[in-house]
Amino acid sequence: MYFVANWKMFGNLKSLNTLNKVIKFSKSKEIKKGRLIYCPPYTLISSFLKKFENCLIDLGAQNCHESDVYGSHTGFINSRMLKNVGANYVIIGHSENRRKGETDKLINIKIKNAIKAKLKIIFCIGETISEKNKGKTKLILSKQIKLGLKKIKIKSNIFIAYEPVWSIGTGKIPKIRELDQIIKFIKGKFKDKLPKILYGGSVNTQNINDLKQISNLDGFLIGGASQNAKKFIDIVKKTYS
Ligand code: PEP
Repeated sequence: MYFVANWKMFGNLKSLNTLNKVIKFSKSKEIKKGRLIYCPPYTLISSFLKKFENCLIDLGAQNCHESDVYGSHTGFINSRMLKNVGANYVIIGHSENRRKGETDKLINIKIKNAIKAKLKIIFCIGETISEKNKGKTKLILSKQIKLGLKKIKIKSNIFIAYEPVWSIGTGKIPKIRELDQIIKFIKGKFKDKLPKILYGGSVNTQNINDLKQISNLDGFLIGGASQNAKKFIDIVKKTYS
């Protein structure tokens, strides 16, 4: 199981101390088969990397520019630059960025170039509350998958993170039965090699006991709770208990 920590726009150099507990945990037997991946803000990637030098915790970024070459794009960072600094993963298509105008087409370009840069991609999809209420969840997910992964044949480096927009940061999660069906639905979109599927949206130390029951799930994308080392560790431990 993969446990991806999305720190969003939080954290500074002092936050590095909070990682000690997680590093210790990652070296213990308690981690079982859990794989930890931290996606801090760009400013902390190098410091996290140094901190994780002697452990198996992996590093990712939270977004990237769509271009695969250097260019005059003030304030942006592309996937090659992320790989160069030591990141192995990148989150693409997060709803917080889709909301700011990131289109499926742009997401598709970002994914293609991230693949070229040899990054693993955490590709976020999910419906809004109004889409859910109109019964459009499957339609939206199908569209996001189709357009986001257009003309991408090899999907072995792609993780799909199903993140219902209405669940992110709200404390609400889908009903387990519904979630189970949606995960099956997403897997059904891929005939041959199935991508790994994560669930994200208000995962916490309580609801993990229910969420871990979903069959066919390969892990979790964790926002708020991942900034607290104890909570993050607890989520991993409970997944295996
Ligand atoms: C996220 O933003 O990817 C996320 C899962 O956030 P949270 O866990 O805080 O809902």
